[in-house]
Amino acid sequence: MSFDSLGLSAELLRAVAEEGYTEPTPVQAQAIPVVLQGKDILAGAQTGTGKTAGFTLPLLQLLNQHAQGKGHRAVRALVLTPTRELAAQVGESVETYGKHLPLKSTVIFGGVKINPQIEKLRHGVDILVATPGRLLDHVQQKTLDLSKVEILVLDEADRMLDMGFIHDIRKVLALLPKERQNLLFSATYSSEIKTLADKLLNNPVLIEV
Ligand code: AMP
Repeated sequence: MSFDSLGLSAELLRAVAEEGYTEPTPVQAQAIPVVLQGKDILAGAQTGTGKTAGFTLPLLQLLNQHAQGKGHRAVRALVLTPTRELAAQVGESVETYGKHLPLKSTVIFGGVKINPQIEKLRHGVDILVATPGRLLDHVQQKTLDLSKVEILVLDEADRMLDMGFIHDIRKVLALLPKERQNLLFSATYSSEIKTLADKLLNNPVLIEV
């Protein structure tokens, strides 16, 4: 199978080719067409399976193909991750795969100064990658508006729950528009993940690799 048959735009295929990828991994082959159709997914995928490109590529395409309107850029895709390392890694992937598209992204996590993050948010971003605690700090300081989010990704959701982020996640969910696409990635399925998936996802397509 090649990347060409998944429905991705030329700009994204070019970025993928520049990374030297010749064919999609199983999670990419399954997730990309489904996400492009606007559906929710529940994906059981470990690190190393290529899951990051599996959600990043279609997310970039969806944002790029829908008009943004004039004026200030609002956050339209929110990716939550358990750790700053993963947030930074996902942020890099968004930059890499989106390098030929006119979309802006940034990464915010705790343990570093908040002001440079506020400055970046003030300039407007389409895609925000964040850890839950610092995300809520920004919401409290009113430096972040989540009312225009169209796509939510929970990456490594099982780790987020293990780290005690469920309350933060619930607070974030309450700030998002009801009408949105949700992508849930988890390496394991506990009863907590099932509860979260039931609350979050709308007729999800199940992806197992
Ligand atoms: P991930 O599971 O998203 O952390 O990705 C694991 C690694 O696989 C990353 O270093 C990616 O650059 C790489 N990768 C992702 N997709 C592909 C692909 N289709 N072909 C080759 N390598 C890939």
